[in-house]
Amino acid sequence: MPPAGAAHTLVRRSHEERVLRVLQQAGALSRGEIAERVGLSRTTVSDITSELLERGAITVVDTDAAGRTGSGRPAELLALDPGSGQFMGVDFGHRRVHVAVADAAHEVIAAGTAHYLPEAPWSARCDAAFGLVDRLSTETGVHYGALQAIAVGVPGWGNRLSADGVADTFVARFHAPVTVDNHVRYAGLAEAARTAADTAQNLIYLRLSDGVGGGLVVDGRLVRGAGGHAGEFGHVTVAGEAGVLCRCGKRGCVETVASVPAILARCRELGVPLDDLDDLRAAVAIAQPTVDRVLRDAGTAVGRVLGAAAMTLNPSAIVLGGEIVTIAPTLLQQVRSTITYELSWLPDAAPVVRASALADSGGALGAITALFHESPMLADYPAHAAPHRSRSPHVHPTSNDGARWPS
Ligand SMILES: [Zn+2]
Repeated sequence: MPPAGAAHTLVRRSHEERVLRVLQQAGALSRGEIAERVGLSRTTVSDITSELLERGAITVVDTDAAGRTGSGRPAELLALDPGSGQFMGVDFGHRRVHVAVADAAHEVIAAGTAHYLPEAPWSARCDAAFGLVDRLSTETGVHYGALQAIAVGVPGWGNRLSADGVADTFVARFHAPVTVDNHVRYAGLAEAARTAADTAQNLIYLRLSDGVGGGLVVDGRLVRGAGGHAGEFGHVTVAGEAGVLCRCGKRGCVETVASVPAILARCRELGVPLDDLDDLRAAVAIAQPTVDRVLRDAGTAVGRVLGAAAMTLNPSAIVLGGEIVTIAPTLLQQVRSTITYELSWLPDAAPVVRASALADSGGALGAITALFHESPMLADYPAHAAPHRSRSPHVHPTSNDGARWPS
């Protein structure tokens, strides 16, 4: 038997470790929330946290005043020393890269965007990302000295080789573990992570952008599929032989009807000269009837594909992402009503259909979410070197790049 003093020290240390672990996983919590999660009394937690605060292992990051409705003093939110770890999320799109860096307290400490041409090779895209990372360092004073892991999102198909190359390039540059996955899937994960736990278990995410891609969360797990191609809704055929030639080589894919370039091209074909999303916004503002028709056609095509997916997977939520979804509400309405019709014979299967609450930065934030996020959502993922930082299903990235992620 160890002497009573030693036993007390052991218990104390185990309590400290539990408190530190829960903060590592959840970001920032009040003393009450910590007590609830670790199953210790408030008095004990209060004792432990004051000692940890004194030692500088944890820090007061905020109060919960913003989210409070009742009266009384706002509770302090405690988090790990933010300097004890950094996590980088990178999202390579067709024309731009987003980078976001969060600290151990789950606060986004640097974020930004750099652009490149759609035909830019991967070497140039990585250079753009590294230039951005350097610029962010100069602007924010963040030096990436505590970088624990990096998650890089890349566009969906045909990218296995480039994905490996990108991973190697990032490892060589930062000497940190790198995970690479589909960037739309990361955006879907960010979306599921910020959705109420009961509806995030089964969710379909679809993004309409330069291309069309998707992500699936089934039974609380992000689905990759056998070869990492699950959720490639963009190349489901909707228009057949008469359809427009797609970059995948087939004709009439969803992407040839509902991607942003496809919608703009169709409007031009019908005599409405639209060059970009700003033009589209202006046309929507005056309810231009041809544009309205093109958007409805695109929405019908997307709604049918998502309706079929909903019959296959029975999700509780379908989330549509991409700037065009907020610019053109008609599109979302048409997707929603098409899905309603498709599932009209199964009324209790009707999912919530909504626009993404995350801005274009969702992919980068979702990549960081993947690093913070442990099972069940990522339980089936290959064991990459990325450390799992969170068991909490409540990591809530926000659309504001500068914002904290409350847990
Ligand atoms: Zn295609």
